[in-house]
Amino acid sequence: MSEQADVVVIGGGIAGLITARELGRTGRRVLVLEARNRLGGRVWTDHRLGRDLEIGGTWLHWVQPHVWAEITRYGLAVTRGPRPEVAYWLAGNQVRQGTLDDFMKLIDPGMRRLLADTMRWIPRPDDPLAEPELATIDAFSVQDKLDELELGVDEYHANEAAWIGHFNAPLDEGAFTSALRWTAATAGSWHLMHEASAVFRLASGTQALVKAIVADTRAEIRTGTEVRRIEHDAYGAVVTTATGEQVHARRVVVTLPQNIIGNLDISPALCQEKLAASKEKTASKGVKAWIRVRGPIEPFFAYSSAAHPLSVVRTEYLGDDDAVLVAFGADSSRITPNDIDAVREALRVWRDDLDVIEVTGHDWMSDPYSGETWLMHRPHQLTRYLRAQQQPEGVLHFAGSDYANLWAGFIDGAIESGLRVAREITTQLATSR
Ligand SMILES: Cc1cc2nc3c(=O)[nH]c(=O)nc-3n(C[C@H](O)[C@H](O)[C@H](O)COP(=O)(O)OP(=O)(O)OC[C@H]3O[C@@H](n4cnc5c(N)ncnc54)[C@H](O)[C@@H]3O)c2cc1C
Repeated sequence: MSEQADVVVIGGGIAGLITARELGRTGRRVLVLEARNRLGGRVWTDHRLGRDLEIGGTWLHWVQPHVWAEITRYGLAVTRGPRPEVAYWLAGNQVRQGTLDDFMKLIDPGMRRLLADTMRWIPRPDDPLAEPELATIDAFSVQDKLDELELGVDEYHANEAAWIGHFNAPLDEGAFTSALRWTAATAGSWHLMHEASAVFRLASGTQALVKAIVADTRAEIRTGTEVRRIEHDAYGAVVTTATGEQVHARRVVVTLPQNIIGNLDISPALCQEKLAASKEKTASKGVKAWIRVRGPIEPFFAYSSAAHPLSVVRTEYLGDDDAVLVAFGADSSRITPNDIDAVREALRVWRDDLDVIEVTGHDWMSDPYSGETWLMHRPHQLTRYLRAQQQPEGVLHFAGSDYANLWAGFIDGAIESGLRVAREITTQLATSR
């Protein structure tokens, strides 16, 4: 079977859905082909542990302009989890306890020193490659730069765990420039960066955003339709699905994450930079776990160290007789979020009084339709690959949060990239016959 479309969008995550919505408005025939049986990609609200939980992307903020514009457009409500009343962190093997303020004061000097030159390296976060000397700093991992500070043991572990929370990766694999980009996006304030990436969420879940975009699109959307092959030339492309159906299109938008884009059979092949980035993989390879414990408990957060399978844990929902915690670890090969015994053990680092009832999560790393969690570059990847990753190749265009300028790796970045690609294609189709 073979059919025609003006534009085929591969992937029904946020980037694909935004691209399709925008292009659909121009009256073009737009077809979205999504491999999974659901839309949203790495945002996924699912009912587990008695609540609608975000298995993937969650937090957003008004300093993220693209996602906030969508919140305003669709009138979506925003909420937050409870403010933590107690904080736990480690100094070597010793557990320390204090208030949120105590912890923030502890990490503040290290954060300030680490990020002091943020705006020198990333003066324009919306144009992250603007600084001509950027490659010199892009050689370093965040671990390299943290080690240079020679912090005391309390401060070191606290800073280390905070960065693991952000990177979802071992710190010696994550590029220092990724930390700089996040902080530059909040004008150099680590505190605001922290808030922007980890506090506010949609009251009805990211599913509300997905539903609102889908209800507002003229594009045709097909789920359960995996794309395997793209053949393209100067005039158009033929997209072939796993079941052998073919769609002819004038333009194709590929929205696959960096780690899996190289698996698509594309002829002629993608440029060397896109393929090299995909082969090297992103630094992020961590886990996110949801944990239901017996309540009532006081809301808390806890940071451990890189050596622990879960480095960050926090109360996200409080019930009368239970609470749901969210946790992150740097390496998904070290803990399975569905393994209740392993999660129970990991929590004992800080406290042995929590009664774990149920746990859940998703193995994003071995999911063939993502292969990663959220983008964090390895050293050199920003300066070697980003520009080329954003570039169209003939009739193929590339959207996706991994290829965004401002909040790459975030929901915001997915929207930014979708708007950019829709504009590119609209302009091209208007000027071509
Ligand atoms: C655990 C986790 C926590 C996160 N936390 C946050 C957060 O708090 N805040 C935040 O802003 N961001 C967060 N993110 C990141 C955010 O969710 C992503 O950056 C964003 O959703 C990516 O959108 P995208 O459209 O670029 O990519 P994706 O959502 O990955 O979309 C790509 C789509 O392509 C589909 N696909 C793949 N292969 C094929 C194929 N061969 N054929 C057809 N379709 C295919 C996929 O199924 C998917 O739907 C998190 C992500 C994860 C995983």
